[in-house]
Amino acid sequence: MNFEHIPKSNLHTHTRFADGKHTAEEVVLSAIEKGMEVIGFSEHSYNGRNDVYGMKDEETVAAYRAEIQKLQKAYGERIRILLGIEQDSFGGIPTAPYDYVLGSVHYVYLGGEFCAVDHSRAVMEDAIRRHCGGDPFVYTKEYYRLVAEVEKSTQCDIVGHFDLVTKFNEGGAMFDESDPRYVRPALEALDALLEKDVIFEVNTGAISRGYRTTPYPATVFLRRIAEKRGTITVNADSHHKDTLTYAFDQAFGILKACGIGSVLVMTRDGWKSYPL
Ligand SMILES: [Zn+2]
Ligand SMILES: [Zn+2]
Repeated sequence: MNFEHIPKSNLHTHTRFADGKHTAEEVVLSAIEKGMEVIGFSEHSYNGRNDVYGMKDEETVAAYRAEIQKLQKAYGERIRILLGIEQDSFGGIPTAPYDYVLGSVHYVYLGGEFCAVDHSRAVMEDAIRRHCGGDPFVYTKEYYRLVAEVEKSTQCDIVGHFDLVTKFNEGGAMFDESDPRYVRPALEALDALLEKDVIFEVNTGAISRGYRTTPYPATVFLRRIAEKRGTITVNADSHHKDTLTYAFDQAFGILKACGIGSVLVMTRDGWKSYPL
């Protein structure tokens, strides 16, 4: 399958302002070298506390915003650079204007603790043991309760990694993804979000980092999005300058196989739809 007609664009990019490996300028230079049309930065929001992913304070947020605006001036003729944010569902609504907001659930709040969903399998298993009576489906249900509300909690344009809770579950390592106790709350969350004006992200980040072999969301959810005519864009969730369009062709192929006829791509002239 050939997807060369689709311009290269990625709106999910991290840098050293939070947990990425490279500076924003290194990322921009790499994106130009790869012939990308748009690179959007989506640093993790500051969530008012010391957490494992987010920018660490308001000063860092200000520095992030200033740096991306500086790069827009310096490189704007060669590539369109957007200033976005990956707003955590416990971070409130963004207080400054952004070109777009990605809304993501990275924590469940259980027993008075913020439990990180995608930090490590050990952290997730520990939370399931201590707060969910050892039942992973109690944990996944709470995760999807938060996902169902992510548009409301973050006022996002794009829903980030819908089923992030499966990050450490390749091959069913922790729970059975076909079990109705898993699928039902997930589909309820998906249906709630399909009623809203949001774009779903297909996210290849866990492939580039070796956790999974397929992108988020799983095909069962992509088929539901196809059925209900939801809109989709493909993002890399890149933490490295060399993974800005990682496995995009694989993602396009999966979308096509799931009955999705087109993807939205951010271009120099805004969102455009491209056939698959
Ligand atoms: Zn995320
Ligand atoms: Zn991210």
